[in-house]
Amino acid sequence: MSKKLFDRIAIIGLGLIGTSIARAARANGVVREIAGTARSEKTRLRVRELAILDDVVETPAQAVEGAGLVIVCVPVGASGAIAQEIGPHLAPGTIVTDVGSVKNSVLRDMEPHIPDGCFLVPGHPIAGTEQSGPDAGFAELFTNRWCILTPGAKANADAVAKLTSFWQALGSEVDIMDAEHHDLVLAITSHIPHLIAYNIVGTVADLESDTRLEVIKYSASGFRDFTRIAASDPAMWRDVFLANKDAVLEMLGRFSEDLSGLQRAIRRGDGAALEEMFTRTREIRRNVIEAGQETAEPDFGRARATSPDPD
Ligand code: NAP
Repeated sequence: MSKKLFDRIAIIGLGLIGTSIARAARANGVVREIAGTARSEKTRLRVRELAILDDVVETPAQAVEGAGLVIVCVPVGASGAIAQEIGPHLAPGTIVTDVGSVKNSVLRDMEPHIPDGCFLVPGHPIAGTEQSGPDAGFAELFTNRWCILTPGAKANADAVAKLTSFWQALGSEVDIMDAEHHDLVLAITSHIPHLIAYNIVGTVADLESDTRLEVIKYSASGFRDFTRIAASDPAMWRDVFLANKDAVLEMLGRFSEDLSGLQRAIRRGDGAALEEMFTRTREIRRNVIEAGQETAEPDFGRARATSPDPD
């Protein structure tokens, strides 16, 4: 049998991301044994039924026993409490990581609870869907997607290298960056787009019922794509905006200025300004496709295979 990267890993939080990691690690033969736990009995039972882990246990403390790698896959606001709970049970040399969509707050909240001799290397797979829970996970979620690692004071080069190999074995490409920079970049590429989607769908929810029915009936003309993003997990996204407050507010300021520019162009009938802006944005779409982050297939609501959608 080929040598495994880890003998045993523990996954804390068994939703979309946690079970996708378990499925991908198993499918790629990366580890010998996968243990894990979730907060509710219901989720633990479902994961046992799905048989995607070797050992589903009751508590985070039990899950980390004998694990060389611990991956925390819960909403970012809960990562500090999990670190506090597992800290005393970690064996020397254990690498602890997470998958949270915000990194500065995770470093701040988890680091104090990681004992000397263990290593903390926070991470963020830029891969996801608007689904949540253990049934939503799938092994190919991370294939050809980026995973960003943001090591802090409790990391070392060996731990970063080993975690990099782990994510590469799951099909990802890995980038290393500073947690603060990560949060600024993700504020504009992910967090603000989600906020806009939540806002536009919320605006419709508040419309008078006649208009609302028509918006839903004719939703293929743009609104539908926002509803997909706005169906994302409420608890996860609540925590993202609370944890990445500064970067989101900074980017939201720039966004509002640009929106005012468009408003002015429409009011003044400045077609040239609108066309110039829309031409630039079309070019960005082309760049995204060329970077392999999306396909150019037309998709007018027709069924097609599930395609991972970076969060
Ligand atoms: P999910 O499917 O909703 O699963 C979340 C898991 O965390 C569940 O097992 C849940 O337990 C547990 N949990 C929720 N609140 C908790 C709390 N207060 N304390 C302890 N456990 C708690 O979520 P997900 O999409 O996998 O997201 C997990 C993490 O990945 C988040 O930090 C998110 O920012 C990050 N992320 C998400 C995406 C995405 O597209 N979804 C992409 C990249 C990164 P129960 O099931 O028992 O309630």
